Amino acid sequence: MLWTVFLDRDGVLNHKLPEGRYVTDWQEFHWIPGSLDALRVLAGSRARIVLVTNQQGVGKGLLTSEQLDGIHRRMQADIAAAGGRVDAVYVCPHLEGSCDCRKPAVGLFLRARRDFPDTSFSHSVVVGDSPSDVEAGKRLGTWTVLIGPPLKLLEAERHATAPDLRAAVERVVLPLLERSGAARE
Ligand SMILES: [Mg+2]
Ligand SMILES: [Zn+2]
Repeated sequence: MLWTVFLDRDGVLNHKLPEGRYVTDWQEFHWIPGSLDALRVLAGSRARIVLVTNQQGVGKGLLTSEQLDGIHRRMQADIAAAGGRVDAVYVCPHLEGSCDCRKPAVGLFLRARRDFPDTSFSHSVVVGDSPSDVEAGKRLGTWTVLIGPPLKLLEAERHATAPDLRAAVERVVLPLLERSGAARE
């Protein structure tokens, strides 16, 4: 069974800016130490890796979709150079309360499943640093990892916490993939 790992961006891959501020320029995108390594390790599994990110700064007019695409191209170049991969990127650019895709709504995930019909939410893990990421995963019936708190496996390991992406990948996601037979190549 193909697994999908849905990754949030800010606070998981790159440092989140203070509340109300958005990464509007590549100079403001700072990798969290270990996250590129984690992406490389994750790329060694057969899981599909999908980025799902709320970027309300677009809706607020702080950056354009084209600027955001440019940031994501630079991000993807760094990931590729580190030996990792992200197979698809889905963005909610909308203002809060104006769409059905801003997490915790599940529109981005449904769009991913439309594009990749072999996606199974029961064989998916959502990794994010906000309660809204975990909430979206719970609505879809995925496994979840909340980034930030110390490592902890909850509810029969279906929901976990981990201090950073590296710990999430090494201690939660890869063991899960291996247990379910979706082992590394
Ligand atoms: Mg986040
Ligand atoms: Zn949206």
